[in-house]
Amino acid sequence: LGTRISSALQALSKEPVIDEKAVDALLREICGALLESDVNVMLVHKLRQNVKKRVDMGALATSGNKRKVIQTAVFDELCSLVDPGVQPWKPRKGKQNVIMFVGLQGSGKTTSCTKLAAYYKRKGMKVGLVCADTFRAGAFDQLKQNASRAHIPFYGSYAEADPVQIAMDGVAQFKDSKFELIIVDTSGRHKQEAELFAEMEQIAAAIKPDNTIFVMDGTIGQAADSQARAFKESVDIGSIIITKMDGHAKGGGAISAVAATGSPIVFIGTGEHVHDLDQFSARPFVSKMLGMGDISGLVETVQDMHLEKNEDMMKNLAKGVFTLKDMRDQLQNILNMGPLNKLMGMVPGMSPEMMKGFDADESTRRLRSYMSVFDSMTEIELNSDGKYFEDESRLRRVARGSGVRPVEIQALLHQHRQFGQIVKKMGGPKGMLGKMNPAA
Ligand code: GDP
Ligand code: MG
Repeated sequence: LGTRISSALQALSKEPVIDEKAVDALLREICGALLESDVNVMLVHKLRQNVKKRVDMGALATSGNKRKVIQTAVFDELCSLVDPGVQPWKPRKGKQNVIMFVGLQGSGKTTSCTKLAAYYKRKGMKVGLVCADTFRAGAFDQLKQNASRAHIPFYGSYAEADPVQIAMDGVAQFKDSKFELIIVDTSGRHKQEAELFAEMEQIAAAIKPDNTIFVMDGTIGQAADSQARAFKESVDIGSIIITKMDGHAKGGGAISAVAATGSPIVFIGTGEHVHDLDQFSARPFVSKMLGMGDISGLVETVQDMHLEKNEDMMKNLAKGVFTLKDMRDQLQNILNMGPLNKLMGMVPGMSPEMMKGFDADESTRRLRSYMSVFDSMTEIELNSDGKYFEDESRLRRVARGSGVRPVEIQALLHQHRQFGQIVKKMGGPKGMLGKMNPAA
């Protein structure tokens, strides 16, 4: 999908005159690509209308950078397809929040449950997992194993066969023990069957979740629309997690799921490891979708993201300040662009020969572990230059929260400090960085 849209945009840039005909040709190409990746016909039609409206021909004739006007319109419309404009539900500290997971078997519920639990545990919440899947053999063992590895308390039963009963008992027990977030994993079937939905309705009625998360496999393509629709009809879907986005999934399914449910995507799963969970946001997601396999598309979207996200950092740099948060945002930008090896492959001059010995998976894993470190820091720590971590107990707390060894955290802090010193020298009203930034 991404490649076709990107090359259509690129072809447009080669057109000597950008007139209505060229825009129409571009839109035809884009809509064709969207339809092919199973985005609903009505949605595609809407996107086309909206882009046309925005790229008002009059304005285009006088605008300096025509390609930019069109690109921005297409980009924004694609973003609005994956962003229903609803504020996602978030668990509140000090409250007893209950989340129920639903989705077909194999979609990634059990894996994502643990990832989400670990995510909120790092944020300092008391989190428990309940296994209400009595359909799949070994379901409880799987959850138990995942949960133990991530040091998260769990509840389940080998004896009880009624998932509704287990869900109720588990939630009640964790509530009694003052847990703040209780995540209930449920079963799935291979198909969207009446029995499955009846079971989901009964569990939901019994535990009254504050939020129901629909988990969808990002690689299912065609089936996304009908699957999401079927779940939407029987359960009150609050949020969506799209899994397996580390593979070749390019997002057509995600677009359909959002459209079918009107619910926001909150996270995407990007691997089998407990840290492989990325917060979702529409713009980087679409950038990645467009950028895949296309260098010019990539460069431009990366530049866009840079400008947008870095305003705060630029202000800081101008003042000679480089916080841990600035560093985290930079790393997040890189992660949002997708697997590093893919990214490296797009750089001109990077031959496969040169890529040898460059273990991209390892780099990505390390970046992710750094993100867990940042996740385990408080706002105050993040907004600092790292001085709080001279306090050993704070360092140990972050190590515990992130599962990253203290020495590695120290290495990260060291890197940050070194760059911070350069920034300090170059910033300020007289420094190079200070002069560079008009906002300062
Ligand atoms: P469930 O039946 O819905 O509970 O699905 P599981 O959590 O058991 O996941 C099914 C399979 O998908 C397992 O092999 C997981 O390791 C794998 N899986 C889940 N999420 C992801 C992901 O984001 N990326 C990848 N590559 N695999 C995943
Ligand atoms: Mg499961």
